[in-house]
Amino acid sequence: MKHNFGAGPGILPQEVLKQAAEAVIDLNGIGLSLLEISHRSKEFEAVLDEAVSLVKELFSVPEGYSVLFLQGGASTQFALAPYNLLPSTGKAAYLETGVWANKALKEAKYFGEVEIVATSKESNFTYIPKDYTIPADAAYFHITSNNTIYGTQLQEFPKSPIPVVCDMSSDIFSRKINVADFGLIYAGAQKNMGPAGVTLVIVKDDILGKVDRKIPSMFNYQAQIEGGSMYNTPPCFAIYVSMLTLRWLKGKGGVAAIEQENITKARVLYDAIDANPLFKAVAAPEDRSNMNVCFVMENPELEKPFLKLCDERGIIGIKGHRSVGGFRASIYNALPLSSILVLVDVMNEFAESNK
Ligand code: PMP
Repeated sequence: MKHNFGAGPGILPQEVLKQAAEAVIDLNGIGLSLLEISHRSKEFEAVLDEAVSLVKELFSVPEGYSVLFLQGGASTQFALAPYNLLPSTGKAAYLETGVWANKALKEAKYFGEVEIVATSKESNFTYIPKDYTIPADAAYFHITSNNTIYGTQLQEFPKSPIPVVCDMSSDIFSRKINVADFGLIYAGAQKNMGPAGVTLVIVKDDILGKVDRKIPSMFNYQAQIEGGSMYNTPPCFAIYVSMLTLRWLKGKGGVAAIEQENITKARVLYDAIDANPLFKAVAAPEDRSNMNVCFVMENPELEKPFLKLCDERGIIGIKGHRSVGGFRASIYNALPLSSILVLVDVMNEFAESNK
C-alpha cells in the first residue's frame, strides 16, 4: 500500500477510483462507456447537473452565482479573470503570496494595470502579508487561499470593498467558506476535487459585463454560463470523477466534517515536526497550511537517506518543491490520518537512528 503525499494531481478516495473504473467500462449498466457517450445525452447531462448541485449544496452557494466546469486549468483562469473583469483603463489589485499568485498577476498585466498591494517575496513567501489596504478603485482583489509550494494558507479572508477573486486550487472543499465573500472563485480540480482536466469556477453574475472589450466565447464567462458549461464538448470524464468525489465528500458529512478531519491531520503532523530535533517547519506558525506541510532538515545531508526510508515504507510524493527544498507532505481530503501516522513513525524512527 502506498501513502500518497503528492502535491497534485493528488490522492483520490479509493471508492471513487473504483466507481470511475467501472464507468469507463459501463456507465450505470447502460451498456456503454462514459467515454463513448454524447455530452448531450441524458446520462451525461445528469452527471453535470449532479456535479453542479453538489457544489451548490456543499458550499451553500447563494442565489446570483453561477457554477462552471471549464478547461485549461487554474492557469487559464489567471488570464480569464482579468479578461472578463479588468477594464483596459482600470487596475486590479493582487496579493503576492507565491509563484502561483505571481503567475496570475503577470497574466493580468496583459489586460490592464496591476497593483501589488503586499508581497512576502523577500522571505521566499514563508508568511501571508497582513498589513495592507485594498484599493477601493481597483476592479477586483486577487488572492491565493493556499500556497501549495510554500505551505501557507489564508486563515481568514479579507473584508474587501471590491470583489475578491480567489485561486482555491489547493484547498477547495477542504474547509468551510462563505461564497458571498467572493466575486470569483476558481480551482483546478486535481488536488481536492477530482482528476486533472477540469477547473471549477464559481462566479457572481453581477460582476460580469463591466468591461467593454470583446471577449471570444470560450474565454467569456457569460457565454459559458449561457452554455451551461457546454459551450463546447466538456471534459466528461474529469467532471464525472469530480462528481463522484463530491458525492464522497457529502457522504462523509460535507465540508464542515472534512474541515475538522483536516485540522486534526495537520495538527498531528505539525506537532510531530515541532517535537522532532531533525526537522523544522518552514511556514510562519500563524499561516501554516492544513493542506501542504512544508518542512526542512537542520542537516541537509540527511535528506537523501530520509527520502529513501520513506520510499521503503511506501511514502511517496514527499520531496519538497525545488524553490523551497526539503519536504512537502500534501495532506488533501482523501489522505487518511493513518497515512500521516505512518509518516510520523518514520520521522521518529529516523531521528532515533540519527542521534
Ligand atoms: N494555483 C495554485 C495554488 C496551484 O497549486 C496550481 C497548481 N499546482 C495552479 C494554480 C496551477 O494549476 P493548473 O496546473 O491547473 O493550471
